[in-house]
Amino acid sequence: MPELPEVETIKRYLNKAISGKRIVNIEILSKKQFPDNPKEVIGEKILSVERRAKNLIIKLSNKKTLIIHLKLSGQLIWERKTKIPVKSTRVIISLNSGKLFFNEMRKFGWIKILNQNQLDLELARFGPEPLSKDFSIEYLQKAFGNTSRPIKIVLLDQEKIAGIGNIYANEALFEAKINPQKLARRLTAGEIKRLRKAILLVLKEGIKYNGASAADQLYVKPDSSFGSYQQYFRIYQKNGEKCQKCKTIIERISLGGRGTFFCPKCQM
Ligand SMILES: [Zn+2]
Repeated sequence: MPELPEVETIKRYLNKAISGKRIVNIEILSKKQFPDNPKEVIGEKILSVERRAKNLIIKLSNKKTLIIHLKLSGQLIWERKTKIPVKSTRVIISLNSGKLFFNEMRKFGWIKILNQNQLDLELARFGPEPLSKDFSIEYLQKAFGNTSRPIKIVLLDQEKIAGIGNIYANEALFEAKINPQKLARRLTAGEIKRLRKAILLVLKEGIKYNGASAADQLYVKPDSSFGSYQQYFRIYQKNGEKCQKCKTIIERISLGGRGTFFCPKCQM
């Protein structure tokens, strides 16, 4: 699933590519992926493309918003020239120049039209953005203190922290030398400090390398090229390989149904 760095990469690309353009047509090939009436936004100008958690938010001149969630396999492909849609194309947004293709193989992702109140409601449930000043040691102490769940599962909880998914949770816990199964409320002050620093580090690395196109290669940038952060993974999907810090063999367990990778020595 595209996580904060992947969605941020798409956001930055699209903000440059489509801001200032006008929506001239929306072709819906799968109603489930675009349940609203496209007439509400035809003719409107795109003011900016923003991100909150794993959502892309396209702000329009009529104060409405197109909010997009890519879920597991959604892709946004930007084409300056007309191109025939692929098999997984669900929505085609035509602008006064160029087209935005929403491809979604597994059909979980969606595009919705929201007004400002609806958008505020939709976004209210998310925890702080890790790259904002709200993501403080004090906040994490509070967020971790009142839960009896393992830290890895808490990191994936979008209501606690926005934007972290399986890749960056695994990477951050390895970097902070914390066992993914450790209960969040048992983390020491020192561990919380290390974990915050590690989260910031791996997310910034992810953005720097334009996101990670992991083994499934479902994540692509709007120009159809891959991100490159997968080349720098420390632990994710490296079970059976040697830990880069201590050479112990990396293990894989399932935690909350998600593949969880850790070094049994570094992350005791
Ligand atoms: Zn190790």
